[in-house]
Amino acid sequence: MNNFRVFKQVPRIIYGSGSISRIKELLPKKDASNYNIYIIDDIFRNTCFPGKDNISDEDILEWFPASLGEPKTSQVDSIRDNIRQRQINTEPNAIIGIGGGSTLDVAKALSVILCNEGSSSNYQGWDLVPNPGLYKIGIPTISGSGAEASRTAVLFGKDKKFGINSDFSMFDALILDCDLIEGVPLQQRFHSGMDCYIHCVESITGTFINELARANASKALELCERVFLCNGSNDQLMTASYMGGVSIVNSEVGICHALSYGLSLELGIRHGLANCIVFNALDDFYGPYVDRYRQMLEKNMIRLPHDVCKTLDSMAMSRLVKMTLRMERPLANALGINWRERLTEDMIRDLYIQM
Ligand code: NAD
Ligand code: ZN
Repeated sequence: MNNFRVFKQVPRIIYGSGSISRIKELLPKKDASNYNIYIIDDIFRNTCFPGKDNISDEDILEWFPASLGEPKTSQVDSIRDNIRQRQINTEPNAIIGIGGGSTLDVAKALSVILCNEGSSSNYQGWDLVPNPGLYKIGIPTISGSGAEASRTAVLFGKDKKFGINSDFSMFDALILDCDLIEGVPLQQRFHSGMDCYIHCVESITGTFINELARANASKALELCERVFLCNGSNDQLMTASYMGGVSIVNSEVGICHALSYGLSLELGIRHGLANCIVFNALDDFYGPYVDRYRQMLEKNMIRLPHDVCKTLDSMAMSRLVKMTLRMERPLANALGINWRERLTEDMIRDLYIQM
C-alpha cells in the first residue's frame, strides 16, 4: 500500500474564452438575506472588466491591493473582521476571488477563517484547519502560481511566509477564462509563468512524485516551454498554470521555493521574481532544467537582478537560513527524508550569496 495522501481536486471548472459570463452557473443559490463576498485585485478597480455586472447591492466587494505586495495574515484577519461587523446577522453565501495568486490566496484564507475561529496565522502549516471553509470560486487573471488548483493559501505572518495547507483551502469551483490574462505586462507574465515552470520541475524531480503528478507536471512543462520559447497562447499558459497546481497538490514544491520564501520575507521580492532569482543559482540540483530556463530568459529578454543579498547583515542572513530550514516538506521532497545531511546551513548561505 502506498502512503500518498487523499488527492482532492477542484470539482467544477468552466473553461474557455468568455467563460466569466457564466459565473451564475457556479454560485450556490442564495436567499434575499445573504450575500456573496467578492475579493478582487484592485488593478481592476477602474476598469469595466467582465463579471462586474454580477455583483449586486447586497454583496460585499473588497479590493485587494496586489500591486502593493503579497497578502499578510493581518490583512486577511482584518477583512474578516470588517465583514463580520457589517453583516452581523446573516451568513455569507460564497466567496469569489478574482485576481492573481495573491488575491486568490486571500479568498482562500478568508474562506477558512470565516468558518474557523481566530487568526489566519493559527492555520499556517500543514492540515491544521478543523472545519470546511465557505464555498469559494477562483477566477485567475494572471497565470503561473497554480493557486487556482492548489490546497494552499500562502500568507506572510510576522516572521514567516507560510501556506495554509489544507483540503479546506481549495476552491470549490474555477473559471479559467484566458481573456482575463490578456493585459498582463510581459515581465510579470514571465515571472508568474516561471513559477509554474519551477513548480513542475520541483514536482517531477521530487521524491514525493507519483505518475498522476508526473503526468500533470510534464504536460505543464511542455506547455510552458511552448509559451515562452515558441510564442504559445494564453490558454496554453492558463492550462499549464492549472496543471502545475494540480501536480503540486499530489506532490510538493522543492528547494527553489524553500529558498525563495526567505527572499520574499527579508527583501520583499515578489514570489515569481524571487523564484526566478533562486532557480538561476540551482544548477547543482536542477541542472538541465536550469539550462532550459536560461533559454527562456534569453528568448523573452528578461534581465534578473544580481547580488540581491549583498546588503544583508549576518542577522538577516541567519533569518534567511532559518526560514529555509523551516520548509521541511519541500526539502524532504527535493532531497529525501535525510535532507539535513545533504543541505547544510553553510550550503544554504552560499546559495544566497550566489544569487
Ligand atoms: P500576484 O497576484 O502577486 O500579482 C502580481 C501583479 O500582477 C500584481 O501587481 C497584480 O495587480 C497584477 N495583475 C494581476 N492580474 C493582472 C492582469 N490581468 N493584468 C495586469 N496586471 C495584473 O501574481 P501571481 O504571480 O499570480 O501570484 C503570486 C502570489 O501567489 C504570491 O503571493 C505567492 O505567494 C502566491 N502563490 C500561491 C500559490 C498557491 O498555491 N496558493 C502558489 C504559488 C504562489
Ligand atoms: Zn510558487
